[in-house]
Amino acid sequence: MTQADASVPVPLLDLRAQHAAIRDAVMPAVQAVIDRQQFIMGPEVAELETAIARLSGTRHAIACASGTDALLFPLMALDLRPDDEVITPAFTFFATAGMVHYTGGRPVFVDIEPDSFNVSPEAVEAAITPRTRAIVAVHLFGQMAAMERLLAIAGRHGIPVIEDAAQAIGARRRIDGEWRIAGQLGWAGTLSFFPTKNLGAWGDGGMMLTNDDALAVRLRRLRTHGGLTKYYHDEVGTNSRLDTVQAALLLGKLPFLAGWGAARRERAAWYTARFAGHPEVIPPAVDPANEHIFHQYTIRVPQRDALARHLAERGIGSAVYYPLSLHLQACFAYLGYKTGSLPQAESATARVLSLPVYPELTEAQQQRVVDAVLEFYAGRNRDERG
Ligand SMILES: *Cc1c(COP(=O)(O)O)cnc(C)c1O
Repeated sequence: MTQADASVPVPLLDLRAQHAAIRDAVMPAVQAVIDRQQFIMGPEVAELETAIARLSGTRHAIACASGTDALLFPLMALDLRPDDEVITPAFTFFATAGMVHYTGGRPVFVDIEPDSFNVSPEAVEAAITPRTRAIVAVHLFGQMAAMERLLAIAGRHGIPVIEDAAQAIGARRRIDGEWRIAGQLGWAGTLSFFPTKNLGAWGDGGMMLTNDDALAVRLRRLRTHGGLTKYYHDEVGTNSRLDTVQAALLLGKLPFLAGWGAARRERAAWYTARFAGHPEVIPPAVDPANEHIFHQYTIRVPQRDALARHLAERGIGSAVYYPLSLHLQACFAYLGYKTGSLPQAESATARVLSLPVYPELTEAQQQRVVDAVLEFYAGRNRDERG
């Protein structure tokens, strides 16, 4: 590695570079909303819903204020009673399980498959009880969970599946020879437009997906205080709309999404070719049925925290998603899980490291990341021998 290379930082994500590239394409539509001053439920919100429903292959897409709220409303629609259980993977972002608790349910955590990081269908089946009211499948890091197996299990027990597709907008999986899209197969699917997600807003935003007409009506009214006619309320909901400004921006970004996904896949493949066969660095596994959108490129390594420090010292961004499995979170101590309850999730939290993988990342930057990772383990091995 030369000095000139080392002077160029490699951030984990570079949203300023993304904005610079699309500024001219997105600003006029956003400016039009500002000039019109219709910030709540302007026409761009319904336009975005139509576009996302088309992208996801669902009958309905219903915008809301965040990916967390996108989980909140389908879980509210289950009308959970105390001790009702909802099965969720332990290795995911907090919102997945937080919203189960928040809507009155009891999260039942299950383990993941070590290679895909996605929920283990066998573990899901083993966790089903007469109190199970739903299964939440998370498509972690941009690759779909084994939906055909989860749906078969859920179908046998008559339990709905909610797909948390916050990290997997437009990701696909070939099932029975047909491409199926993240969020399309469950009773409900959820998306997040958090700024760092593959389709990011300038703040919070989310979307609910469903093919169930009755559920769609309920989700629509829950986001506007439980009523579709102003000042008349069929049930109690809350205020969770997507701002018109955000909808206009997201509509402007949407034509770029497929290209961004392809660029992320190329960068992921480039890393994987260089890490392949390394004795310590395990690149992320792509299930051959999946088209991964690489929201994250997550390796598994020994001495993970020391590697992260080594990268940071060289101006290279990385992050640990996620450092503590949800079954071991302080707020879920009442559920009684212990260290060792879910070994694959716990092992992942100790070993995962996500590397920069965005479309604007250059090959020179990627080379710096690879060099720094390989240098770290070469140095370690030398130290151990010496
Ligand atoms: C980001 C994310 C959410 C929540 O989305 P917000 O828009 O941040 O509320 C939920 N689940 C997963 C898996 C996520 O990555």
